[in-house]
Amino acid sequence: MNITLIVPVYNEQDTLEHFYRTVRAEPSLQGMTVEILFVNDGSSDETEAICAELALRDEWVTVINFSRNFGKESALFAGLEYADGDAMVPIDVDLQDPIELIAQMVERWQQGADVVLAKRRSRDADTPLKRWSARLYYRLHNRIASTHIEENVGDFRLLDRKVVAAIRQLPEQQLFMKGVLSWVGFRTEIIEYDRPPRVAGESKFGLWRLWNLALDGITSFSTVPLRLWTYIGAGVSLFALVFAVYLIVQKVLWGIDLPGYPSLLSAILFLGGVQLIGIGILGEYVGRIYQETKHRPRYVVRKVLGRRRQPR
Ligand code: UDP
Ligand code: MG
Repeated sequence: MNITLIVPVYNEQDTLEHFYRTVRAEPSLQGMTVEILFVNDGSSDETEAICAELALRDEWVTVINFSRNFGKESALFAGLEYADGDAMVPIDVDLQDPIELIAQMVERWQQGADVVLAKRRSRDADTPLKRWSARLYYRLHNRIASTHIEENVGDFRLLDRKVVAAIRQLPEQQLFMKGVLSWVGFRTEIIEYDRPPRVAGESKFGLWRLWNLALDGITSFSTVPLRLWTYIGAGVSLFALVFAVYLIVQKVLWGIDLPGYPSLLSAILFLGGVQLIGIGILGEYVGRIYQETKHRPRYVVRKVLGRRRQPR
């Protein structure tokens, strides 16, 4: 039985060694073959050298070096394409995904689950803003998207090899991994854990990056934001019609001259704004269609290191 850990790393010189030692020292993993597949996402620090050194030391370490930074989503996908364990576990290098949980996942998997999700018990460690926005996002996503994503579950999960085979079939360039990983379905179980803080280094996901990730998630799995405009348009038209009838009746019955300049202006500005938002949302989707039609590869591999593996 071979478990492959898929570990995207981007400028992680301070955490790599620690991660490696923790995995190898974990008592609950001693009976299994645990392969570590680092995907070096175009790091500019010592990450590549440290990974290479680990691959020399340990035959069950493989390193895929990207030609530049392609983002965590692409790195994860590359890991899934290269990995060939009986089960794969995408995991962060900063030890925020506890190593001791892997054995529990494996146990559930051996009992018949195809996917075992690791769910955060609480978000108490996060800032209130992050907690609130995450909650809002999951609610919104699950209300409007075709694919349900489990709240407070990141990419950390165990995937059976047949699940990974299904994910590899997906041709999309714009990867929202959380959605893609859930999209395939299969028998899914959940275990809960408390998420510790990062061991070293800094988070690479600031607010702006998270916002863009959220946009990717919604546009990848829902067309509700597009359809919404039909209803908004219908609502506004209906209102305008009723209002026009009212104005005519008022004029005929009482002949009042309407003093309407400021209200006219605000109505024009309001509708102009609404239309621009509509076009903007349309643009989000059109832009994504454009990107998608180019069929560019999701990542470019510069070099693969590891004694057990040759580049494909
Ligand atoms: N990561 C990556 N490419 C990037 C950004 C991050 O491969 O462009 C990796 C990073 O090295 C880490 C994982 O993704 O292993 C999670 O990143 P981080 O801990 O910064 O995110 P957070 O835990 O704050 O969501
Ligand atoms: Mg982290």
